[in-house]
Formats: sequence, C-alpha cells, structure tokens
Amino acid sequence: MGYCYDARGLLCCDVCGASGGVRKHKCPFGWCQRLALCPRCKREHPEYLTKAYHREHGNCEENHLRFEREQAERQRVLDEGKFLRVSALQHNGRVKVIFRNKNGKTRAYWMAPRNYQGLGYGTATTPEDYKARGKVTRAKTTDIYNAEKYAKASA
Ligand SMILES: [Zn+2]
Ligand SMILES: [Zn+2]
Repeated sequence: MGYCYDARGLLCCDVCGASGGVRKHKCPFGWCQRLALCPRCKREHPEYLTKAYHREHGNCEENHLRFEREQAERQRVLDEGKFLRVSALQHNGRVKVIFRNKNGKTRAYWMAPRNYQGLGYGTATTPEDYKARGKVTRAKTTDIYNAEKYAKASA
C-alpha cells in the first residue's frame, strides 16, 4: 500500500485525506507501513498510534515477533554451518532451489514442485529438509536461470 499525494505533491492524511502538515508516524512495533496523519487527526485519534490499536488491526506485534523468531532460527541454522534456501525457480516441471551458507557459498538442487511447495515460506529450510521429503538432485550450476538437463529432457 502506498501513500496518497494531492495535486501539489503534498502528502495526504490516511484518515481524512486532507493535505498540509501531514506527517508519517511509525508503527509502535515497527511492522506496518507508517501512518500519514494530519495534525487534526493525530490530535483527535491518538489511538491510531497505540500498541493496542496495532495489535488489534494489523496484528503487528505477532507479525513482528514471528519475524524475529524466524530470523533467529535462520541464524541458528547458518551458525551450524548449514545451507539455507534463498530462491527458487520452476523449469519445465522441476524446481531449481538455491541455498546459501553463512560464508556466502551457494548450492543448487533440483526437486519436484510438490516437494518444494510442501515446506512453505518463511521458515529456515535446508537441503536436508527437502531430502527428508523426497528426491533431491544436486544441480550442475548455481545459476537459477540455467535449466540444465531438465529443460532439454522435457522439451
Ligand atoms: Zn486527517
Ligand atoms: Zn502496526
């Protein structure tokens, strides 16, 4: 979601739409987009900037805490010397998944879309996690756009 500006390029208030003197205010949990408020709305609606409001309306505290937990989990896995998923691209019915370790080394593996999608997003995911679920083949290159033999096989 972006911000709204008037014809002169001035930021508009997210609540009433008025422009002039509108300022952006941070989410108390640092999660959702900063709220643009005119001086009047800020005075009349102090609740928009409270933790209670952001807990209830944006689920901001929970999202923020989940994000922190995921970051900590990723760091823990990296510290163990493991590779973590960074990106993936489907080529002709197979998914090429790229992993990176703490030192920035990359590895790539091929797997079935079913295997890839089953683990979801946002969680710390290693090649071992996918191997436990199905067949995983080490790719020849770590270039995500290089379809290698799978593209030729099914072409
Ligand atoms: Zn306003
Ligand atoms: Zn928020």
